[in-house]
Amino acid sequence: MEFVQARWYGPGRSVPIRVIVIHDMEAPEGPNTAENVAHWFATMSASNKASAHVCVDANSAVRCVADGDRAWHAPGANSDGLGIELAGYARQTREQWLDQYSKGVLENAARVVAGWCQKHNIPAVKLTAAELAAGKRGIVGHRDVSAAYGQTNHTDPGPNFPWDYFLSRVNALMGKPAPTKPSTRPAFPAGLKPNSSTPSAKPLQRALKAAGFMNKTVAESDNYGPKTQESVGLFHRKYPQYAAQGSTWDVAIGPKGWNHLFTLAYGK
Ligand SMILES: [Zn+2]
Repeated sequence: MEFVQARWYGPGRSVPIRVIVIHDMEAPEGPNTAENVAHWFATMSASNKASAHVCVDANSAVRCVADGDRAWHAPGANSDGLGIELAGYARQTREQWLDQYSKGVLENAARVVAGWCQKHNIPAVKLTAAELAAGKRGIVGHRDVSAAYGQTNHTDPGPNFPWDYFLSRVNALMGKPAPTKPSTRPAFPAGLKPNSSTPSAKPLQRALKAAGFMNKTVAESDNYGPKTQESVGLFHRKYPQYAAQGSTWDVAIGPKGWNHLFTLAYGK
């Protein structure tokens, strides 16, 4: 990870890290947003004095403050917290947080947060402001720090931040064992869609192969690409009741089609 040292921060720590604070940058969704905000932290005038440990956009993460130092991101939680800035705006809807750009941001942030959770033994759970104030360990938004300690009025990352999706990615990246055996039917992964690689299309490809809709020689890929789409189209050709209305060549699989495909592939 690129390291651009922020200008304003507190060297060292006197208490252990116990909380991770999610922020958004209130900055446009662009390819260099993390780099730009890191540069802003590095050159910030004394009238602002702010920083975060890491900035992420859709294609990169930039380190600004070492974990062992205190970034100045969320007064009240700076001494025992780690702060990460995500490209985007607090006003974003859930749909906007889950668009293609933001999913890249969430994935990069989830990777950093999963590493922190493992390194600092922090459970990947969302705390309420009350739980934060009570000293529990976990993950919060800046808005929760504002509510718990009343030292700032920031409300990022906003009321529509997709905590469920984000925490599921953090948990997945922490390498927890899947709740179901590989040979049984996993739950339909929310957000699975053509031309996307998050969530991974590999389980779908394995089921398509096992059920005879995809050639076993096709290489697995996280991307739900043309070959996967063609195979799902074949599946819908045979089982049009699971295709989207009016289409017997639908390349997008839905939850019901997913369940039927996995039953065909692996049995009940
Ligand atoms: Zn913030």
